[in-house]
Amino acid sequence: MLGTKRWNSIRWRIVLIYFLLVFIAMTIVSVFIVNQLEVYQLNSIRDNLTKTVKDSGLLTSFEVYDNLSSHSAEIQTTLDQGWKNSFQEEMSIVDTNFTIIASTNKNIIGKNAAELLNTTLLTTAMIGGKQAEADGVNLSNIPIKSIAFPIGEQENIIGTVYIRADLSNVFDFLTQSKLIFIRAMVLALLVTVVLGFFIAKSITVPINDVTEKAEKMAQGDFSQEVSVMSDDEIGRLAEMFNLLREKLNITLSEISNEKSKLETILHYMADGLIAIDLSGRIIHANPAARQMLGLTDPELEVKNCNDILRKYSKIFDLENLKENCKEGSGQEIFNYGASAFAVRYDRFRDENEEDVGIIIILQDITERQKLENMQTDFVANVSHELKTPLTTIKSYTETLMDGTIEDTEVARNFLNIIDTEADRMNRLVKDLLQLSRLDYKQEKWHKKDSNLIWLLRAVVTKVEMTAIQKEQHLNCIFDGEQKIMVTIDKDRIEQVLLNILSNAIKYTQEGGRIDIDAMRTDGQAKVIVTDNGIGMAESEIPRIFERFYRVDKARSRAMGGTGLGLSISRQIVEEHGGTIEIESQEGKGTKATIILPLAPIRGQRNIE
Ligand code: ATP
Ligand code: MG
Repeated sequence: MLGTKRWNSIRWRIVLIYFLLVFIAMTIVSVFIVNQLEVYQLNSIRDNLTKTVKDSGLLTSFEVYDNLSSHSAEIQTTLDQGWKNSFQEEMSIVDTNFTIIASTNKNIIGKNAAELLNTTLLTTAMIGGKQAEADGVNLSNIPIKSIAFPIGEQENIIGTVYIRADLSNVFDFLTQSKLIFIRAMVLALLVTVVLGFFIAKSITVPINDVTEKAEKMAQGDFSQEVSVMSDDEIGRLAEMFNLLREKLNITLSEISNEKSKLETILHYMADGLIAIDLSGRIIHANPAARQMLGLTDPELEVKNCNDILRKYSKIFDLENLKENCKEGSGQEIFNYGASAFAVRYDRFRDENEEDVGIIIILQDITERQKLENMQTDFVANVSHELKTPLTTIKSYTETLMDGTIEDTEVARNFLNIIDTEADRMNRLVKDLLQLSRLDYKQEKWHKKDSNLIWLLRAVVTKVEMTAIQKEQHLNCIFDGEQKIMVTIDKDRIEQVLLNILSNAIKYTQEGGRIDIDAMRTDGQAKVIVTDNGIGMAESEIPRIFERFYRVDKARSRAMGGTGLGLSISRQIVEEHGGTIEIESQEGKGTKATIILPLAPIRGQRNIE
């Protein structure tokens, strides 16, 4: 709990301060008053005595004697009658020999005054001729006031009247007064403690309230409002606390919104983000970074940058990162496995501009690099494909111009070759133009419901001659089938079928066999072309749909192939909502499957 119960709390300190203040004030006042009282009492006793002695005429009555000791009996009588009857104070008459010649105290008559009385007073009175007094105690330890009056004038002092007044009453009175003061002080202190406690409470209760609520706020509970009870300093404190709470609440909710926004951005951003502190500990890795580098949670929790990231590239070496960050942000590219990554990193700082860590941004640029490579390859391929026939045409025309044209037979042969090469170029350019139209979705489609069987028969007829020339057997299994309706652009699908069939013929040795089948399955139309030709390795299959890709470049080119057929075919089939798949075994043969959606059943059919 808070320090309300502790003895060093403000409440107890205030009580103590009040206590001490009252105590000190009362002590000073008491001491002063008691002192003054004492002085007053003693003065008043002296004044009374002096007045009494002087008024009584004793002094003047003694002055008439020339020698006191010779009149001691008369003097004793005067004392007994004139003084003792009226006053309690002891009065003694001392002559110039310091002998007590008469006294109201019978015990000291005739004794040496120097031994019993205060000699200083006697001397002052006797020699100095002045009245003298002193306070002290007698032999029985009773407080007394002694006053000596000279008898006679300056030169003719004949003795001293010595009075000893008992001060016990005065001191009793003073002791009583002190006791009264002590009692009053105890009472006043008790009242002060009680009052101080309540006054302190009125101050500390609101402070404790603020402290308690601040403690709850520190634990995250911002619903605490302090009640403002007064408009004094404490009231202001409560008001300010409430204001602070409100502001803090707003700021915190803003920060939390920002944080959640940032977290969402980090979570969904495509780039990988890793934050490390200066010791290399990984503070944050967003899902993209985890996925790119295959990082797991337990790995991230225990290990640091050098343990986890260093294996991907030496870029992630902590010292290297720190060094490179000194001159601003760094940017590098590294390959890991089949993937390529672009890395950017920079340090981040705290509010005092001190470096606290490094942020690393990872970008998977594998696809981008692949695309760039494909683009470069494409340009290189096109140039190469155009250059080959152009070189051939150029060399044959030069030979012809050099005179070979005279030899009609050779010239005809040469012109045939030039024509074939020009055709080849023409075909290539046509294919490229078609690809570009397909890429930019500019190809015009004339889709109609068509009978796939009829189309297949027409295609077979077109390639039949080539197959016959290669003594291949074209086996049309679909012959029993009459009608499979599909909604297609007939020319484009014919182009696809022609490519698949001519591939089968091209890449099957002489005397080979090609099976062509068509069927309706699962609401789809399926065309399967199987050959027992040269086939290809399984690893080649994904690549044959790439532009210009040919498994055996030389052989394919010799057969007039450019490697664009399958890539165009796939785009056409996919445009029709279908798929094209190739399965193959090297040396055994290839199976091409084209799947197209069936035409919806319509009332009015427009069959071609
Ligand atoms: P184009 O079709 O442009 O005249 P092409 O036939 O060489 O030329 P594609 O049809 O795209 O090009 O075929 C790509 C490559 O796939 C061919 O070069 C060939 O190596 C391989 N290929 C395609 N079909 C077969 C098949 N039936 N048997 C063996 N290899 C094949
Ligand atoms: Mg082909």
